Amino acid sequence: MQEEKAKCNDPRCPIHGRLKTRGTRLAGLVVSSKAKKTAIVKVDYTIYLYKYERYLRKHSRIAAHNPECISAKVGDTVNVAETRRLSKTKSFAITGILKAKA
Ligand SMILES: [Zn+2]
Repeated sequence: MQEEKAKCNDPRCPIHGRLKTRGTRLAGLVVSSKAKKTAIVKVDYTIYLYKYERYLRKHSRIAAHNPECISAKVGDTVNVAETRRLSKTKSFAITGILKAKA
């Protein structure tokens, strides 16, 4: 478990609020935390191409809720979990920091 900085009053916090997580759980790198309480998390994955018998590296960018008690910053590696849809593009929430930026 990550260290808890403080309790927050955010109802959309997966730890202190009422937000339930379910389904997909991913780990990724925070590439943007400009928006308030939102972070863009880059998730790397590979797909196998049978034709070339090689792996193709791909990535996706996920908008995730970034609660005050976590406040992930650019460069942090974080765990994200799927939630209900929070906005047009946001349906994940950060559940903890795996590795803070060195
Ligand atoms: Zn919280």
